[in-house]
Amino acid sequence: MTPQSAKKKQDSRDRKLLDTLLETSAEHIRATVIVAHPDDEILWAGGIILMHPHWDWFILTLCRANDRDRSRRFHRVLGHLDAHGKMADLDDGPEQKPLHAPEIERTILEHLPRKDYEVILTHGPQGEYTDHRRHEEVSAAVLRLWRKGKISTDYMLMFAYEDSQRRYLPQCDPDADFKTSLPTDVWQEKYRSFPVIYTC
Ligand SMILES: [Zn+2]
Repeated sequence: MTPQSAKKKQDSRDRKLLDTLLETSAEHIRATVIVAHPDDEILWAGGIILMHPHWDWFILTLCRANDRDRSRRFHRVLGHLDAHGKMADLDDGPEQKPLHAPEIERTILEHLPRKDYEVILTHGPQGEYTDHRRHEEVSAAVLRLWRKGKISTDYMLMFAYEDSQRRYLPQCDPDADFKTSLPTDVWQEKYRSFPVIYTC
């Protein structure tokens, strides 16, 4: 078997396992979403959260804990999703100065209530938007923690959206390893209910 066909076979096995996981509504599935900002959990993972309301969800946002308005809205979303969550307060000023990698890693570890999950979702390496530093930093930090064994998971899922160098709003990356379509009711809830909570 060539390396390419071995990889193809492994990818196909991974996809089958992931399909099986995504079809289950078992309550024992512990899933966490680790994102930079409140609203990222809905923008990039709202569909999968809404499709699995019986999973035990924990949502961690690494910025804006001291932004009273965003914090209030985030907690309303947690209530709506019947999820647990926490906010941290890493710098998110307009200058978007680079954060120190150890600070991001430490913040993640301090705020996660456990270190092992069946599913971890986080930003993609390219950060969904072109040059969105915080998204990219969070993605890299989660990956490093996972590689170092500081957090563990059966499935590390990274958001796969791209904006073609800001030419359009982020869309599903055509090269994503895994794509899923949202049922109509889930789509409607994601795009109608939650924007109201975050913007009105
Ligand atoms: Zn964000």
